Amino acid sequence: VRFHDLNLPDRVLKAIQKMGFEYCSEIQAATLPATLQGYDLIGQAQTGTGKTAAFLIAMISDFLDYPVEGERPNHFPRGLIIAPTRELALQIADEAEKLTKFTNLNVVSLVGGMDYDKQRKQLETEYVDLVVATPGRLLDFARNKKVMLNKVECVVLDEADRMLSMGFIPDVKSIIRMTPHKERRQTMLFSATFPKDVQALARQWTFHPKEVSV
Ligand code: AMP
Repeated sequence: VRFHDLNLPDRVLKAIQKMGFEYCSEIQAATLPATLQGYDLIGQAQTGTGKTAAFLIAMISDFLDYPVEGERPNHFPRGLIIAPTRELALQIADEAEKLTKFTNLNVVSLVGGMDYDKQRKQLETEYVDLVVATPGRLLDFARNKKVMLNKVECVVLDEADRMLSMGFIPDVKSIIRMTPHKERRQTMLFSATFPKDVQALARQWTFHPKEVSV
């Protein structure tokens, strides 16, 4: 499948071309037709499969197709991506910057172990369309009302199995509870492995999901 044949917004396609991608990877081909339509996803995929672009392209295309009406609200991200580690979050943010290059969507990283005040200032001064975050730092900002999650349209949980093994599930649960109900948001959950406890969380957080394994 070529990206060109997916009916993506021109500004997204242009960014994909600039990144040098022409053909969808397997996970992208298997998920985009459903996720571009707003369906939830439970995806089994390792790093290196192109899962990051898979969820980012769906999220960004959807936001461009449905611009927010009225004034662009500050502090209220439309998209939320949660990853277990700083390195992964920063990789995702980097890819999100590239894919939003020709749009007015702004990406903000709320990541632990990095300058708190700088992130707080960003939240105060910038439009926050996409947040890429690690759980603890995000929860901190959300509890302090520096970022509001009740207008989030799309949530991505990346490497859910690692979030579980690293003990982040209580934080992630608190975060998810601040977002709209699962019937009124899109949720995409990725994990390399699906032991019983990850399966249970995936069920709990998604609504009629498409399930894909690559
Ligand atoms: P990920 O599995 O998301 O960590 O992606 C692995 C690598 O593949 C990253 O460097 C991506 O930039 C790259 N990539 C993602 N999708 C494609 C694609 N359709 N064609 C070529 N490279 C890709």
